[in-house]
Amino acid sequence: MNYPSIFNDVLGPVMRGPSSSHCAASLRIGRICRDLMDGDIKNVVVQYDPNGSLATTHKSQGSDMGLFGGLLGWTADDERLPHYQHGIAEAGIDIRIKIEDIRADHPNTYKIALFNDREMRELTAISTGGGMIEVVEIDGSPVSMFGDFHETLVYVESAEKVLAYLGATIDCDALEVSAGRTRFIGIKSQAFLPDNILKELLAMEEVRFIKQLNPVLPVMSRKNLRVPFITCAEMLAYNRDKNLDLWELAVHYESARGNISHEAVYERMRDLVGIMRTSIHQGLKGTRYEDRILGCQSAGFQAKMDSGQLVGGDVLNRIILFVTSMMEMKSSMGVIVAAPTAGACGALPGAVLGAVSALGLSEDDSIKAMLAAGMIGVFISAHATFAAEVGGCQAECGSGSGMAAAAIVGLAGGSLDQALSASSMALQNSLGMICDPIANRVEAPCLGRNIMAASNALSCANIALADYNALIPLDQVVETMDQVGKSIAHELRCTALGGLSITKASLEIEARLNALSGAEELDLAARKFKIC
Ligand code: SF4
Repeated sequence: MNYPSIFNDVLGPVMRGPSSSHCAASLRIGRICRDLMDGDIKNVVVQYDPNGSLATTHKSQGSDMGLFGGLLGWTADDERLPHYQHGIAEAGIDIRIKIEDIRADHPNTYKIALFNDREMRELTAISTGGGMIEVVEIDGSPVSMFGDFHETLVYVESAEKVLAYLGATIDCDALEVSAGRTRFIGIKSQAFLPDNILKELLAMEEVRFIKQLNPVLPVMSRKNLRVPFITCAEMLAYNRDKNLDLWELAVHYESARGNISHEAVYERMRDLVGIMRTSIHQGLKGTRYEDRILGCQSAGFQAKMDSGQLVGGDVLNRIILFVTSMMEMKSSMGVIVAAPTAGACGALPGAVLGAVSALGLSEDDSIKAMLAAGMIGVFISAHATFAAEVGGCQAECGSGSGMAAAAIVGLAGGSLDQALSASSMALQNSLGMICDPIANRVEAPCLGRNIMAASNALSCANIALADYNALIPLDQVVETMDQVGKSIAHELRCTALGGLSITKASLEIEARLNALSGAEELDLAARKFKIC
């Protein structure tokens, strides 16, 4: 069973770049590649499947930026990321990207070969949405690594004796011999093996060499991990004799999931809320970035709002302003929190912090609202997806909307049942939303979809507070989201091969931006051919 963590899977990473499933995920993959090569990389060959999402989006949506930054050992919020090509050139790393049939099952598959003067290693990984990853193969042998353990790979000629030694010597979370082209023993643990054990291993004639891969997620997993509930129905049963609010249930869940105290969960959320607030306020001061479609629009919106030139609605207009500002920070490579993704980083924080600001509420109200939103996100992450490549924009902005609706009910002092109804209705309204980025950039219609998601959240919070009947329980809506997402056509799931992405105007903007940034000329004929 998948037990998502609020801080791994739902809110975060803290990052720069247009897309978490492209930039932050690829950066994490790059960092694991760097560890696999002990930090010494000379040449890299990256393969993307022509039928996946990355073949058409790896450059414009930031996979190159993230992957190259990760290969250099940078963090997801490193300010050098926009200059990744310079960094790679300076490090003397030669990278080739090939679009080839790699028989990928997942639309976001990275097949990477790494070389230095001594060795060649191979790694295949997928980006699963919101910056999350899974490494599925190393050196031709299947693995399953999510970046939530210290991973040690002991490459062996034969495993038996080494396995017996490890079984008797170390306490770890998992110990497994690979089945595939290369023989290694994979060890998952809370910390790397002590030096004396490594020394003893390397002295054994069966051991060839050892690789150590650092975790890339903020919250670790562990053996026999248990959570108090993983569906909404289970949560309600858990709460029967407790009468907790949604934000308190989120604290209980995350504390069990991450093996951290209730206070630590609360304070970690305080940090994220602080980063979100800073992003919005910096965005309002104005942002600049060359490879961008839209200019700075939040300043104009604020001017008209302040001078009474907009249709009234203080809370909604403050929310629209905050969503826009956050999206402008993202599009100018500023630091944002993926919430639940970078493409949908505006809807939830804009709705919650906009409502808090308009209603004159406190920082603690913001933290509690964001925890409540995180709890809804756990259910979506566990039973559907945040990846637009898998589920369209309903997975990103739709999820943000469902999370924000529950959070706003909490801000208004509504009940747990009303929060869950609001979330159910907001998700119902988002089903089937496609992903068709204009000019192959995560900017438009993303801005509008984030604003719509936040507006939908506010409306659904209000109708839930007025006790409208959601009819379909949240668990069943999430299940439906998953099914609907899978039935959206490939062209409409973040491939830039359908919808608005292939309108004449979109292709013209894309060609103009590519010319400006010195990127390859857009092959319109090839894109149109693919569309046919
Ligand atoms: S359309 Fe939606 S899912 Fe697609 S890139 Fe934009 S925000 Fe993300």
